[in-house]
Amino acid sequence: VAEGDVLLEVRDVVMNFSGVRALDGVSISVRKGSIHGLIGPNGSGKTTLLNVVSGVYKPTSGQVSFGGVRADGRKPHQVATLGIGRTFQHPLVFDELTVRENVVVGAERLFRSRLVQLLFGTRAAVREERRMVRSAEAAIERVGLEELREALAGGLPFGRQRLLELARSLAGEPLLLMLDEPAAGLAEDDLVELASLLQTLRDGGMTVLLIEHHMDFLLRLVETVTVLDQGEVIFDGTPAAARSDERVLEAYLGA
Ligand code: ADP
Repeated sequence: VAEGDVLLEVRDVVMNFSGVRALDGVSISVRKGSIHGLIGPNGSGKTTLLNVVSGVYKPTSGQVSFGGVRADGRKPHQVATLGIGRTFQHPLVFDELTVRENVVVGAERLFRSRLVQLLFGTRAAVREERRMVRSAEAAIERVGLEELREALAGGLPFGRQRLLELARSLAGEPLLLMLDEPAAGLAEDDLVELASLLQTLRDGGMTVLLIEHHMDFLLRLVETVTVLDQGEVIFDGTPAAARSDERVLEAYLGA
């Protein structure tokens, strides 16, 4: 992998929580424009890694670089401003707001922090506000929720709420999208729709880091998969190779 192709570089990351070593020297390179899978048994450190990359946790040691810029040690909103968006295992939507309002709120958090830093009180700030609204509209269309724009989020079926959460992240115009189990709880039709949406995003140049328990869903989508077990990388390679790797099979099927 050429150095210039890597968007996210995690190097030797250790994360300790009072006595628990959740990550034990994890290194991962995510190539620009790829869908990169992250799998592993429960408790293997997947969510912790996402939390380290998104600035929720400062790693005990090791480095995170994004587009060649150091990202570890920054606060979550600063990491978002670098261009890293994420979703959560459980959709975070405001039930009493409409789809459109939810997405605008998602975009606002990111754009506001940019505004305060760069543009406060200027004409450029007004332009940024307009851009934010346009970006929210575009995100709603990208996930195919335009017909439900004015519907209350709380009344949407679960699969639509997942798409809404995705739209909220997209509205921040991330370069890297990190998804924490987006397929969890989805019916087969929704899975097919989500898979084709992720492919469309990737074809449009988006980079995706995907945590997923649904192995078939994940292995069909990704170019590269990293497998964690007990806080360590036990495999990094193609889905085809992962399916027949002894350590991977053992981690999933073994004791
Ligand atoms: P996964 O997402 O793969 O299921 P996690 O990253 O959630 O795994 O957890 C990895 C390990 O770190 C587990 O042993 C978990 O109990 C521990 N852990 C995660 N977050 C914390 C925390 N905030 N405090 C203490 N231990 C944690």
